[in-house]
Amino acid sequence: YEKVAVLGVNFTKITNRELLEQLKTDSLNHSNRFVITANPEIVLYARDNPEYLAIIKSADYTTADGIGIIKGANILKTPLPERVTGFDTLCSLLEFADKEQKSVYFLGAKPETIKKTIAKVRHEYPALKIAGYHDGYFKDAQEVTAEIKVSNPDFVFVALGFPKQEFFIAQYRQLTASIWMGVGGSFDVLAG
Ligand code: UDP
Repeated sequence: YEKVAVLGVNFTKITNRELLEQLKTDSLNHSNRFVITANPEIVLYARDNPEYLAIIKSADYTTADGIGIIKGANILKTPLPERVTGFDTLCSLLEFADKEQKSVYFLGAKPETIKKTIAKVRHEYPALKIAGYHDGYFKDAQEVTAEIKVSNPDFVFVALGFPKQEFFIAQYRQLTASIWMGVGGSFDVLAG
């Protein structure tokens, strides 16, 4: 896919449908992938943080999660096709995981929230395999990362908020042949 630079971040020129098809293929091939649905806050933060920018650049797909980025790309005469949000992508992938009996690890949010999220997922996506889950307020990543590694899930969704979730994924993504994606506050939304 072509890349389009907006404020120093290289966005992937990709639609929701294309991303979904691509990630389905990647997951069936057991490819290791890092997806960032970058909102304007992420882009602005990356401008002042070279280390974070380098991590953004290391992602396989960086989508425009915000109308401001779409508008910016239009002004630069290098348009991006459409908004691709973290929450929509998460829901589409959960549907896929349910249909294909893929396994998912859920990391992040407060202890009571993640429990509600898992209950909701069990109810809404009964055939999806829950590889494991953990709240996002651990002191030592060792226990969590060991669990992710052993369960070797098809998808790892990390809801630690930015920039934490991207630093976490960049550090640990090589542990498994999974699709890794930061999903911000999505577990809170799912928990209802
Ligand atoms: N969070 C977490 N661990 C932390 C900090 C945040 O699990 O150390 C969770 C928090 O409970 C919430 C999510 O990360 O579920 C962050 O949501 P927010 O909407 O603030 O993130 P953004 O969408 O701005 O990245």
